[in-house]
Formats: sequence, C-alpha cells, structure tokens
Amino acid sequence: MTVAAEFQQVTQRFGDFTAVDAIDLTIPAGQLTTLLGPSGCGKTTSLRMLAGYSTPTSGRILIDGVDSTRTPPERRGLGMVFQSYALFPHLTVAENVGYGLKLRKMPAAERKRVVAETLDLVGLGHLAASRPRKLSGGQQQRVALARAIAIRPKLLLLDEPLSNLDARLRVHMRAELRRIQAETGLTVVLVTHDQDEALELSDQMVVMREGRILQQGAPVDVFPAPANRLVAEFLGYENFVTSADGTLRTVRPEHLNVVSEPTTAGLTLEGVVVDVAFRGVDRLVTVDADDGLGRTVRLTADVRDGAVTARPGDRILLSADQAHVVTLAG
Ligand code: ATP
Repeated sequence: MTVAAEFQQVTQRFGDFTAVDAIDLTIPAGQLTTLLGPSGCGKTTSLRMLAGYSTPTSGRILIDGVDSTRTPPERRGLGMVFQSYALFPHLTVAENVGYGLKLRKMPAAERKRVVAETLDLVGLGHLAASRPRKLSGGQQQRVALARAIAIRPKLLLLDEPLSNLDARLRVHMRAELRRIQAETGLTVVLVTHDQDEALELSDQMVVMREGRILQQGAPVDVFPAPANRLVAEFLGYENFVTSADGTLRTVRPEHLNVVSEPTTAGLTLEGVVVDVAFRGVDRLVTVDADDGLGRTVRLTADVRDGAVTARPGDRILLSADQAHVVTLAG
C-alpha cells in the first residue's frame, strides 16, 4: 500500500477545548477514505489541518512522506470541495474549471484540453459556456468537483460535498463520485455524517467521536463488527441487551423476527408489543421484553413478513440468528 498522507499524534485545541485528540491516521493512495461521525466530532478540523487551513497544536502531518505540518495550503497540491460550492459567478463553467490551471500557468491550448477532458469526466461538456447561476445544484456540485480535479491534485478533499443536494440526487452523485474516483485513481478524503454515504463510498471508513478515532477499516469489516456501542449506535444498531455474564449484545431491527418458538442458537426474548408502525413494505414492532435478568429492554423489530399479525398488548417472541447477534466490547 502506498501512503498518500499520514496524521501522527495530531491534536488541535481551541482554548481549553480539544477538537482533535492525538489521532494517528494513514490515508492510502488511490483510495477513498471517509471521516465519519456526528456533528462536532472533529472531522472538519482534521480535514482543515490536512488542507493546511489550520495548524495542529501538536503532532505531524505527512503528505507523500514529507512533513507538511506547516506547509501553506497553496503549496500542498490539494483539491478541495466544500459544502457550498464557492464557484466564481462571473466566470463560465469552463473558466471556473480552468481557474487553477491558469494560476499554475498552464499554456492555453493544454488548459483547454484538460478542461474539456475534466468536464467530460463529470458529464458537463455541453455546459462549458454557461454561467454557474444557470445550473442546478447537482450541476454546480459537478463544476466544483471538476475544478478541484482539473489540477490533478495529490489529494482531493471533500467536506460534506453532497449534503446540499436533495435525497435522490445525493444517491446518484454517490455513484458518480465512485466512478470518478475509480476512473482517475485519485486519493480522496471525504467528510460526512451520513453513514450510508460512508458505507457506499469508502475503501476505508474512519469513525470519529469527540476528537478521537473509534474504529477504522473497510466498510465490509467495520459494519458487521462495530468495536463498541458508540460505533454500533452510529451505524444504526439498536436493541442492546446485556447478558448474565455482562457481555453486551446488539441486533439490528431488520434481523429480529417474530417467532412462535425460541430458536436454539442466537437470541430469543419474550415481551409485550407496545406499538406497531405501518411503513408500507415493512412494519416496526416495538416490544418491551424481559432480558432474562428481570429487567425490561425495549426492542424494535423491522418485520417484513406480512403473515405476522402482532398487535399492541400481545405477548410475542422475538428472535435473531446467531450470525446476526453482534457482541460488543463495551
Ligand atoms: P460538523 O459536521 O458539525 O462540522 P465536525 O465533526 O466537522 O462537525 P468540527 O467542525 O471539526 O466538527 O469541530 C469540532 C469541534 O471543535 C466542535 O465542537 C467545534 O465547535 C469546535 N471548533 C471548530 N473550530 C473551532 C474554532 N476555530 N474555534 C473554536 N472551536 C472550534
């Protein structure tokens, strides 16, 4: 694995407040890394330090193996796209995309070729002569991306780039981002608070909370095995049950089934239905169950089996296969 950038014990304090707390992080070259976590966890602060917009209180940031902790942003060779696209309104789409190339004094003929190629890459070749304000949000987003990519950055940094788009477009642009990253082989670091976005896009996802890294790895490894309750909650796990030996287990609502008999392996709990919410293809069945230790735990089962007819007040059994019961460290 070639390393594009590295955080070594990087801390950022604002007065008494520690926004980023001694993180170590490796950004692999040619891959897409997401920094994922709730608001305030230090994602943007980390990205800004990587970009050079803020200097760590302590620790080092290496880019291509070179200590770049104090290198100014314009000398880091990075492309960046923010939540607000920050396009130049008085320039055409092509001029926006060519802006960084002009600054770098690329000859006009070559610049024209690179701009055309980059606009084709993001599917906007036909809008080269338009002004940004004539474009939809999704199109403006692509222009901002094209402008950042045109300079062939060592690292492409994206801060919540899709969060201003409506839900449908956002999902479409995820696929587009993946395609563009695969076609260009760029190293991308993306900040998001959206777990679905991180799961779908990442080669490596880094789950953060309160300035620390809780877990990192490929989505296929992190998702089925969250390191602790905080990561599990952030990834949409519910139904936390403590067993007699003190271990904490969790099951996703879609893996809890209504059954007529206890299953031998896995988890089975009995309880009373509190609520049934109809949601079209599925129903959310809320149950107050006995955890086997005399305590009541509230469980939610996402039931897709139309034959199940649970009603509030019914006593039912909820069960999950062993394969879907995740044991947490803490
Ligand atoms: P969000 O998604 O809301 O941007 P985030 O995970 O990106 O969240 P950061 O923007 O990195 O979080 O902020 C982390 C914490 O540091 C927050 O509590 C924020 O208020 C604080 N913070 C960030 N920048 C500064 C600053 N310049 N001065 C003081 N506090 C700051």
